[in-house]
Amino acid sequence: EHFLRRIRQFDGELNSLITVTEEQALAQADAADATLARGEGGLLTGLPVAHKDIFCTEGVRTSCGSRMLDNFIAPYTATVVEKMAAQGAVMLGKTNMDEFAMGSSNETSFYGPVKNPWDQERVPGGSSGGAAATLAARLAPAATGTDTGGSIRQPAALNGVTGLKPTYGRVSRWGMIAFASSLDQAGPMGLSAADCALMLGAMAGHDDKDSTSLDQPVGDYLNDLNQNLEGLRIGVPEEFFPETLDGAIAESSREALRELEKQGAKLVPLSLPSITLSVPAYYVIAPAEASSNLSRFDGVRYGHRCDDPVDLLDLYKRSRSEGFGEEVKRRILVGTYALSAGYYDAYYRRAQQVRRLIRDDFARAFAEVDVIMGPTSPETAFKIGAKVNDPINMYMADVFTIAVNLAGLPALSMPSGFVNGLPVGTQVIGNYFQEGRILNVAHRYQ
Ligand code: GLN
Repeated sequence: EHFLRRIRQFDGELNSLITVTEEQALAQADAADATLARGEGGLLTGLPVAHKDIFCTEGVRTSCGSRMLDNFIAPYTATVVEKMAAQGAVMLGKTNMDEFAMGSSNETSFYGPVKNPWDQERVPGGSSGGAAATLAARLAPAATGTDTGGSIRQPAALNGVTGLKPTYGRVSRWGMIAFASSLDQAGPMGLSAADCALMLGAMAGHDDKDSTSLDQPVGDYLNDLNQNLEGLRIGVPEEFFPETLDGAIAESSREALRELEKQGAKLVPLSLPSITLSVPAYYVIAPAEASSNLSRFDGVRYGHRCDDPVDLLDLYKRSRSEGFGEEVKRRILVGTYALSAGYYDAYYRRAQQVRRLIRDDFARAFAEVDVIMGPTSPETAFKIGAKVNDPINMYMADVFTIAVNLAGLPALSMPSGFVNGLPVGTQVIGNYFQEGRILNVAHRYQ
């Protein structure tokens, strides 16, 4: 009731939720009370959670921020949502997001931009910007997000909250609407690393319905939180602190590093030379996969259908032209081009080769260090409208986060201070399946 009241009071302004499932939430909360009264319960019993509107939720609209799915009531529930519900979580509603998770500012949503609670003239980041704003405004204590190139970590940074992108394959993608399948990963967003550890314990694990989910034991993330940092080796890549970086943002992350040093960690300067190529490689690979994934929205099986089609081709053309927004169309065109017969080798194959170089850079680094750290985002929340007509500039918002997705590694963004009254985040990257270590580092800092 507390959170539903806050949503009613503040979300008209912020626009951080697309759907509020009030009745269902109250019924689930009653059930949680009854469970607790019996002295029973799971990891999350009674915890209100706002799910990103990319996760299918049976009987509830699942829009993915698109006009294409504005009328789509999911016939089944995503594994992430189901696993959290099985541990007693209460679903408050579905959060706003960039259309099909394509964006870094939440401005590509069919449902309009989300406002950053710290300054309502500014964006909350994206694509999980609705989730991050919901948390920052305390409209929900916990949320889910997805991260294909930074969509959990960048909005977490811009809203002063904590978000974790797990190792690729750690969390099932079943029922999560696909953007770029080899990069997409769901993860927890909360006010602290401890909150994320609690949620990850419920979300993670192998799922028969997702063949890319890995059969590795789920860690005891809460138990890992307090480990001592004595002797921890933190890699500090020069590429994360370029000369062009805003001095105050660099200083915020350096200050976090100094704090961890005081707790016994050792800072190791290093270089990841190929990561400077991660944005161009990503903007070939992600659109290529998206163009294929989004071909299912054809106006026939589900989603938006145009009025009075004259023939099948007209049905496809107009349904897709009307259903998709500008950024989604741009990605489909770029992806289709990059995959076409004459250009495949020049673009897609090359991008995949760069992806391998990036992975190898991280592998070499993790032979020397336990975690790698740097700023999450090169800037604080920018003004609504500032980058909408400048896609390349928008794409650069993820310059520090994208390499992690290309390599499939886990990474977290934690709040590390403020610049001009706006939150700044610092990123902690770990080796494969080192979520426990990352959460531990963030928790000790927090
Ligand atoms: N901003 C990036 C993009 O638009 C990443 C989005 C994401 O992680 N879903 O592709």
